Amino acid sequence: MKVTSSPNTLASPSMLVAFDDTDSLESMCTTFLATEIVKALQNYDLIGPPRLVRLNPAVPWKTRGNGALCLNFGMGKGACRMIGEIDDLPVYSYDRMYEDADRRTVTRVSMAMVSKWSRTSEGASPGLVISQGKPSPGLYWKAVRGMMHMEEVTKELERIGAEAIGWEGGRGIIGASAAMAWRPKDRTYEIITYRRPERWGTPREIDDTSVQEMDRDHPSTFNNFDHRRGRRAISPHTPCPVLFGVRGDDPVALMHAAFSVRSERPASWLMFLSNQGTDDHLVRAPPTLPGRSYDFDCTVAGLSRTLVGGHVILPVTTSAGDLDCAAYEPSKEFREVVKALRPGDRLRAMGELREEPRTLNLEKLQVISLVEERRKVSNPRCPYCGGGTKSLGAAGGYRCKKCGRRNDLPPRTAVVPREISPGWYEPPVCARRHLSKPLKRSS
Ligand code: ATP
Repeated sequence: MKVTSSPNTLASPSMLVAFDDTDSLESMCTTFLATEIVKALQNYDLIGPPRLVRLNPAVPWKTRGNGALCLNFGMGKGACRMIGEIDDLPVYSYDRMYEDADRRTVTRVSMAMVSKWSRTSEGASPGLVISQGKPSPGLYWKAVRGMMHMEEVTKELERIGAEAIGWEGGRGIIGASAAMAWRPKDRTYEIITYRRPERWGTPREIDDTSVQEMDRDHPSTFNNFDHRRGRRAISPHTPCPVLFGVRGDDPVALMHAAFSVRSERPASWLMFLSNQGTDDHLVRAPPTLPGRSYDFDCTVAGLSRTLVGGHVILPVTTSAGDLDCAAYEPSKEFREVVKALRPGDRLRAMGELREEPRTLNLEKLQVISLVEERRKVSNPRCPYCGGGTKSLGAAGGYRCKKCGRRNDLPPRTAVVPREISPGWYEPPVCARRHLSKPLKRSS
């Protein structure tokens, strides 16, 4: 597939290269391809850091985290900072460019790299987009919060004079265009380190204690270590080229953090600007359409129930109707919060609405208010003589054991202390979505 039209005249020069859908569950990682493209285009400078943009986590054809990449090449000027090392050579990112890169060279080299590294025989459907201007920001918002059709994307690419190349259906053009369209409102950074090719597929050598220390000593980083289970969350479980990735808010602190991890020697590393941990995927509205993620207010409508496998289901009422929310087994101790909720509790909940069964997969919640929970401690005293009473069962009411008179008083109850308090709750590090804003970033 190839979509081409003449480039627009642009106020500020740029040569944007975006790509997606190159990997498979078995191998590769689209971020690794970024290092190969940077290497292959080393005659040019990177303008701004590479961008790793996560899109709607509900798209059914994602491999893992629905991430797409966008790079900008040119001749750099102004301030520059080191943002990576590839094969022992430093990689710099410049604030501005005085000349953009040659479009034909960038297209030819990027196409060769995508062809070389994409796992098309394992189901990848790669897309590459080259453009001197960005698609409209709406394209990003639609792709991070909803579902997009290829036609609307190609129409926008034609409008801005972008070139799109696809392989095996080229579905990746959608993600690539959305990554290019991203204008950060909120942003984070990730340093990803890559393994030497001869080690791909072998167990990763990473010292967990150093990951724990990094997590403790660098508070601007997040999602590093699951302290409760003693497990690191920075390395993937697949045989891909990634050694580990550390995420954070402050690019300088992030470098110190990532370099403090003791591990096998990486072949390369690169810092990405990202929408990870921003909640950009959440629509602030009661859930209606499946395949989207929502941030909404609701009231607990009944007690939770636990299914075989440990998944916990909680019925709630929203302004758009009744809904079952789910805290799945991998969310571990987060399920205890859900189990502790009682009918009438007021919540702000966040998560993805699934089609079948129609359930909202909880990814975070705020307990706004709790109802008073009471339990029966004894039958009422007789209102006539003060004696003890006996329940009349289904007939209702109580009869005094002393004077024999009947009464309809309620039983005597006591307040049961609630096991949770108002506040925010989230699943443990290992069960979080890439886009979910960790509570530590919100405070
Ligand atoms: P990884 O994170 O390991 O790179 P992945 O999870 O990103 O893999 P991909 O192989 O990139 O998975 O597959 C995602 C596919 O979904 C891409 O082809 C992308 O273009 C497409 N896509 C992404 N967001 C949307 C959307 N909102 N609507 C339609 N298609 C989308």
